[in-house]
Amino acid sequence: MNLKIVIGTANKHKFEEIEKILRPSELNVELIFGGDIVPKKPDETGKDFYENALLKAKYYSQRSGLPALSDDSGLMVDVLNGAPGIFSARYAGEKCNYDDNNRKLLTMLDNIPENNRTAKFVCTAVLYLPDSRNFVATGVLEGKIAKIPRGTGGFGYDPVFELPDGRTVAEIPQEFKNQISHRAKAFLQMRGIIAVIFNSAQTIKKL
Ligand code: IMP
Repeated sequence: MNLKIVIGTANKHKFEEIEKILRPSELNVELIFGGDIVPKKPDETGKDFYENALLKAKYYSQRSGLPALSDDSGLMVDVLNGAPGIFSARYAGEKCNYDDNNRKLLTMLDNIPENNRTAKFVCTAVLYLPDSRNFVATGVLEGKIAKIPRGTGGFGYDPVFELPDGRTVAEIPQEFKNQISHRAKAFLQMRGIIAVIFNSAQTIKKL
């Protein structure tokens, strides 16, 4: 196995989740945790998910000299014109926690009827190569915002994000979330992209 890809994140939990989706041994690649290359992560100054994922992937690629794969994700609520979007992690302020964010969201939607509470989780993943080429994949999970939080699983906005079957994402098993989530969809597409780019590169080398 000679191909290495850095997973450009400082979050070990995210690294392990991505590893499960990509199944690197079948792709014949070795995944390296970004936090082992540079402990400090870059500031997320982009204006959308793509720009943030790109700047992270570029940062880890340039510091390692290897291809790097990063993502950016968040919640977009239709009636709030796509907010909180790239500000999902800090919607209720710089030092807020998940409960603060959910409380703020439910307050913002206080008088909004069920039909107008549609929302989506979005994840954009970017693979950045040392020659500056980059490849993008986006995954979306559609749903709506519940009136009150329900469930104890997951993280972030999961307790207030209701799926078409009526359960919130915090009420479904983690393995099921890993099949339907925005992140799973983006990284499964990325798996295909990696297979095409690197398998053809490896094949060409052998010719
Ligand atoms: P990140 O880009 O993965 O760091 O996610 C940014 C923020 O979006 C998180 O802090 C959460 O608030 C929200 N978010 C992203 N993915 C999910 C999810 O699967 N469930 C709930 N919240 C999420």
